[in-house]
Amino acid sequence: MREHASTVFGEMSALAVATGSVNLGQGFPDTDGPDLVRDAAIRAIREGRGNQYPPVHGVPELRAAIAEHQRRFYGLELDPATDVCVATGASEAIAAALLALVDVGDEVVMFAPWFDLYAAAVSLAGGHRVEVALTAGTFRPDIEALRTAIGPRTRVLLLNSPHNPTGSVFTREELTAIAAVVREHDLWVISDEAYEHLVYTGSEHVPFASIPGMAERTVTIGSAGKSLSMTGWKVGWATGPTDLVAAVRVTRQHLSFVSSGPFQWAVAEGLALPDSYWEPFRDGLEHQRDLLCDGLAALGFPTTVPQGTYFATTDVRPLGYDDGWAFCRDLPHRAGVVAIPHEVFHDDPDAGKPFVRWAFCKRPEVLEEALARLDRAFG
Ligand SMILES: *Cc1c(COP(=O)(O)O)cnc(C)c1O
Repeated sequence: MREHASTVFGEMSALAVATGSVNLGQGFPDTDGPDLVRDAAIRAIREGRGNQYPPVHGVPELRAAIAEHQRRFYGLELDPATDVCVATGASEAIAAALLALVDVGDEVVMFAPWFDLYAAAVSLAGGHRVEVALTAGTFRPDIEALRTAIGPRTRVLLLNSPHNPTGSVFTREELTAIAAVVREHDLWVISDEAYEHLVYTGSEHVPFASIPGMAERTVTIGSAGKSLSMTGWKVGWATGPTDLVAAVRVTRQHLSFVSSGPFQWAVAEGLALPDSYWEPFRDGLEHQRDLLCDGLAALGFPTTVPQGTYFATTDVRPLGYDDGWAFCRDLPHRAGVVAIPHEVFHDDPDAGKPFVRWAFCKRPEVLEEALARLDRAFG
């Protein structure tokens, strides 16, 4: 595990504090989720729900709410008794799914740049990661490159759409083409859909399990941290066919045993919120996206406008850098802003080199301050 000893977020957040920078590095919102959900957590604590070990695979109310959420938004039918597993965040759900499905020496194929946890979790499982680069700058899945990357030891395709760090939302056509490869090679799929509710005008979130033939081989991952803006609560889940979820349940119960006590009841209420929560939530993030992306474009920073997530990407080459790491190490001193280089999310040292990621899940005044600082440094 030595290669996973430090994370870029620790280094860049420390640099942000040391330099008094606006931190657009780590992806967490700077405003908390709905009061109703917070009050539900407090009520659960007061009423003694979840203060002691809750049921091992999640409280029945939350499993029912997750199943109902998948039905309401996507038409996916799940049995909450057998097809849902609550976890300590999407993170633990992903780790448990990999530990369940990957044997020592198996290969896990993932698009790059990848979320850093994937690399570490594949190592924990004794597997090997195989990366397939998204197309540079446009960040679309390259289906032929995917097909070529799959070998006799490939067991799992680890998918992520909406995609962190690029903000790409894979289209139904792209997912259908990926599904054909999955079928050809008889793979299992872990589909990380943590940003399912953060998809902006003109795009739609298509769960991989909704592509014909994929429900029976896909473990879908969700996150209350992202969907309800409560990243500190660490409530996530895996859903899918009974046999795959049973395997995830076995490994997960030997990691944290149970998760999040009272927060599970609160998340159950949160997932049932009416459209009057979900629409303004998404619109607010879309406004923040536009604020940041328009601001960066006005400064002459070539920026890929994301279809989803918390993140936008800039190519730093026209700014006088050929390396995103060098840019990100200079930026706190030069401008008082922190960003994250894409190259830490790749194995190939050249792929991702010119790109940096900005988080826009911050209050508009924070984004405006970051843009003003960038303007002073680069304008
Ligand atoms: C944040 C994030 C997660 C982890 O979610 P938690 O619920 O906080 O554990 C998983 N996948 C992606 C792509 C993320 O950005």
